[in-house]
Amino acid sequence: MKFKKILIAGVAAGALALSGCGASGNTAGSGGEGDGGLIGVAMPTKSSERWIQDGDAVKKALEAEGYQVDLQYAEDDIPTQVSQIENMITKGAEALIVASIDGTTLTEALQNAADAEIPVIAYDRLIKGTENVDYYATFDNELVGNQQAWSVLNGLGLTDLEGNPAADAPEGPFNIELFAGSLDDNNAFFFFNGAMDVLKPFVDDGTLVVKSGQTSIEQAATLRWDGETAQSRMEDILTANYSDGSQVDAVLSPYDGISRGIISALADAGYTQGEDWPIISGQDAEVDSVKAILSGEQYATIFKDTRELAKVAAGMAVSVLQDEQPEVNDEETYDNDVKIVPSYLLAPVPVVKDNVEPALVDTGYWTADELGL
Ligand code: BGC
Repeated sequence: MKFKKILIAGVAAGALALSGCGASGNTAGSGGEGDGGLIGVAMPTKSSERWIQDGDAVKKALEAEGYQVDLQYAEDDIPTQVSQIENMITKGAEALIVASIDGTTLTEALQNAADAEIPVIAYDRLIKGTENVDYYATFDNELVGNQQAWSVLNGLGLTDLEGNPAADAPEGPFNIELFAGSLDDNNAFFFFNGAMDVLKPFVDDGTLVVKSGQTSIEQAATLRWDGETAQSRMEDILTANYSDGSQVDAVLSPYDGISRGIISALADAGYTQGEDWPIISGQDAEVDSVKAILSGEQYATIFKDTRELAKVAAGMAVSVLQDEQPEVNDEETYDNDVKIVPSYLLAPVPVVKDNVEPALVDTGYWTADELGL
């Protein structure tokens, strides 16, 4: 509780500190103090809509501060991302903002950046195994995992969205299956461990049953967060464990694209809404998945406002370039195996059908039209 309050206060302070590149069309920074120099922004893929929004928002924030931006997407291909970063260095980038595909593969490229005295900001995903990462802008990823688990428990009637027990909670048992993200992404561990901390007591007392027995992150992982990979794993789980007339009641999913794969597998196996359709979590508030929440196919997602993250990351790069100290609010959580990377964590927001409008429409993240409202 205490940490949450500090976090929210920190976010407000961060927003103030960064008000020069406000999201609301507030172009206070246009022609800002930047020297017109180049900043390289490396994003993982366009196959997920959140990264497109992230890239656009970072570019906009940096341009408003007077910088030029080289924004690149690597289509989830590691060598492509490495060569994009090398190119940015060759082109004379003054700073790099990097959302890595595999957080462990950039050591050499970032050594070249360090040799050229180019500061590096890790964007959303921690860059591991190198001292050459200066700051990290992200969300409270453990809390994301907690919230994903609480949303599943909430859908089953066991708790509210903050994990407080429901007064008239059913006894269960409920069958649950578990999915995790890509093991080369540090966030996958924070999400899964954060979720399992919440779910474990319910598994231990028999309220939740993982019928497949696949409870380790290695068993639950989904390489590159790929929806089709998740779909075929769900199909295999259903065939192997639920052909005896039993049903799956809930699925922990770490990302909307994975949830969509799980939904396809369930629909193909004959699960029907209003009858035996399970509770499914998610993350990123992607437009198709918000529509799926409105129609009842998906129970929840976790909204991470990419506009705020972009402001924080852009602000960090600008501060470093202007010889100022970027604001951080966490200097202990994100150990990249070489050092603890000073971080700024933003607060994630769980979204279910009831709060789609206030969380996503009233904040201007999606229009009512885009969501079909
Ligand atoms: C991000 C999530 C995203 C996932 C898949 C993670 O690193 O934190 O927001 O769902 O990657 O793109």
